[in-house]
Amino acid sequence: MDMEEIEINPEDTIDLNHKIVIHKKCGKKHIDADKFKTFNHRKHLCYYCNEFFYDDERGIGV
Ligand SMILES: [Zn+2]
Ligand SMILES: [Zn+2]
Repeated sequence: MDMEEIEINPEDTIDLNHKIVIHKKCGKKHIDADKFKTFNHRKHLCYYCNEFFYDDERGIGV
């Protein structure tokens, strides 16, 4: 995954918004790992479809 495609705002690394993130296309829960659980983001990579999708708000899939 190319990190340069994701904008990281400083506040997104402080006030972490842990939430349930579902990829609507396949219905699978998206759980962020490694670097992706350290900052809020809207653009997620579905590990099942290997496809990017956007959630309604910035957060971290748990
Ligand atoms: Zn994610
Ligand atoms: Zn998917």
